Amino acid sequence: MTERPTDTSVVIIGAGQAGLSVAYYLRKLGLDPGNDMVLLDRGPTPGGAWQFRWEALRLGSTHRVNDLPGMDELGLSFENADRTLPAREVISDYYRRYERHFDLKVVRPADVTRVRATFDGFEVTFDDDYGDQTFSTQVVVNATGTWGAPFVPWYPGMNDFRGRQLHTVDYTDAESLRGLDVVVVGGGTSAIGFLMELEGIAASLSWVTRRPVEFLEEQELNLEGGTRAVTLQDAAAREGRALPSIVSTTGVPRTRRIQSAIDRGLLTPRGMFERIEPDGVRWADGTFQHADVIIWATGFRPELRHLAPLKLREQAGGVTVAGGAAYRNANVFFAGYGPTASTIGANRAGRTIARQVVAALSSLGY
Ligand code: FAD
Repeated sequence: MTERPTDTSVVIIGAGQAGLSVAYYLRKLGLDPGNDMVLLDRGPTPGGAWQFRWEALRLGSTHRVNDLPGMDELGLSFENADRTLPAREVISDYYRRYERHFDLKVVRPADVTRVRATFDGFEVTFDDDYGDQTFSTQVVVNATGTWGAPFVPWYPGMNDFRGRQLHTVDYTDAESLRGLDVVVVGGGTSAIGFLMELEGIAASLSWVTRRPVEFLEEQELNLEGGTRAVTLQDAAAREGRALPSIVSTTGVPRTRRIQSAIDRGLLTPRGMFERIEPDGVRWADGTFQHADVIIWATGFRPELRHLAPLKLREQAGGVTVAGGAAYRNANVFFAGYGPTASTIGANRAGRTIARQVVAALSSLGY
């Protein structure tokens, strides 16, 4: 087993865009990766949650994916990346090179199961190839994203459905659903992506959303800077409420592909069905749609189970976080949470949280 310290100043949980960005800025501020800070990630390879996304997802069919801070030093930019390759391959490759270039020393696969407060800091327990291990640390930065906490709403009859129910995290490819009647639930880009991929492959396709979908005039979503979605996420985080769905507040950008799908009538959602029956879904007006498969593209919740011993959750259902810092524990930070849950937000979180972490360490005498 590689020797590594069991005592460090900062543990960053999660090495996606948010965790890597925090590590980059901490290193810039003088912390030594592998000694002063440790990054733990559950994924088997670099790439954050992108490594798990479906094969057909391309950088051109996502929103803008912002470069990690300092990535230009490596001569890399997602803008110029190969759009014929799956996004998961490109992003994993770029993150791998980034980690190596900045020597960020990510420990993986390391699944953090528990973070506990001690009299002088925290104990972070994780499972890796060698079993249960623990680090002691002064500061914890949580950057665990949402992919590990898929959300599926409950509808009557769903347990009796005889077909398959998939969430976005289970979707692999359109071909495996060839010839089937498919119902896609959800009003975001993932749902729209699935509809476009399944067109002409599924025997029938129905799109169901809880609210009408707002197609924006813009071709690209502004995931940053005072947009309504960011403001609402920030307000919820500051008040310790459960975070609102991002998609319900942003609308869907009208890219050329989406506009042409609208023009050919593919993207006309129906309101939500009332119940699920063994062979399909039924609306309140009695109409019925046969379904072999229901795809729930219904979003995610932040993944925070491992933080339960810290008792950060409020009665209002969320964690109070302002400017990346947890209100209930001054030495716990959240990157990629709420208003910073986008690649550009994650970059911003990295910069602001790294400064606060250094200030926290100096007030602790490190
Ligand atoms: P992640 O990339 O999810 O990284 C979190 C890491 O933490 C993962 O590697 C995970 O394995 C690890 N982890 C989780 N729990 C634990 C644990 N207990 N112990 C150890 N490790 C753990 N944003 C954009 O800006 N542009 C886009 O085009 C875009 N497209 C998206 C498409 C989809 C389908 C989805 C779901 C999201 C999309 N987003 C997009 C949001 C996007 O994923 C984020 O903006 C960004 O990549 C998230 O980075 P992150 O580091 O916060 O999370």
